[in-house]
Amino acid sequence: MGARTPPTLEELARQALLKNEALTISALEQLPKMLFIALSQKALRKALNSEGLRGWEMVAVGIRTPWKQSITHCKLYQTNLYHLSQCHHLCQLKHLDMSGVLLSNFFLMPLRVLLEKVVDTLESLELEGCGIKDSQLSFFLPVLRQCSKLTKVNFYTNDFSMNVLSDLLHHTANLSKMTMEQYPAPQECYELGVVSIERFVQVCPVLMDTLRAIRQPKSISFATDVCSRCSKRCVYEQETRLCSCLQ
Ligand SMILES: [Zn+2]
Repeated sequence: MGARTPPTLEELARQALLKNEALTISALEQLPKMLFIALSQKALRKALNSEGLRGWEMVAVGIRTPWKQSITHCKLYQTNLYHLSQCHHLCQLKHLDMSGVLLSNFFLMPLRVLLEKVVDTLESLELEGCGIKDSQLSFFLPVLRQCSKLTKVNFYTNDFSMNVLSDLLHHTANLSKMTMEQYPAPQECYELGVVSIERFVQVCPVLMDTLRAIRQPKSISFATDVCSRCSKRCVYEQETRLCSCLQ
């Protein structure tokens, strides 16, 4: 008979946590860092798979990274977004990264609720590749303008029209700390789903001028979706940079 493998520190901790949940929740923040990270990562995976979370797991997900909430390139459910917005430990959040999480069919009010909780601390907001549409953006535009600490936003690969994008730029008027801004080229730059160079070089400078009339942006770019052939984007910054196939 082989020797019984002794339980790992993580297993022992989990057993203890299950015995007295009320005590656990109050003690979570005092757990050794490595142990806390291991336990909360498991809880986060459960949350993202829409499995039921125990009370301490829900709290662990919320305080896992008080300053940085990064939920990228995974499948998120409407209920996950709702739970996230209800988390009490988000008030110090500085960085929110939900890049690659497809939100195109979501009711985005919870995202607005979440942003409302962090208007005083949020420094970066990354929603690249979320497929957010015009009608959804209007849900959180009003709160975006209140996030006065924002230094970085990334909205690449979302589905905005020229009008809504222009509206978005106006809503950033008083975000004077902004150092890096990335916006998607509007729908008007595509013809039957393909980038129209002619429109791209016409529309992007107009948007750039729109923003320059409002404030002086430091680093700003407009970019098309990633090209399916060369995996690059057409980017308009100071000048136009086309993807490899369109050059
Ligand atoms: Zn290309």
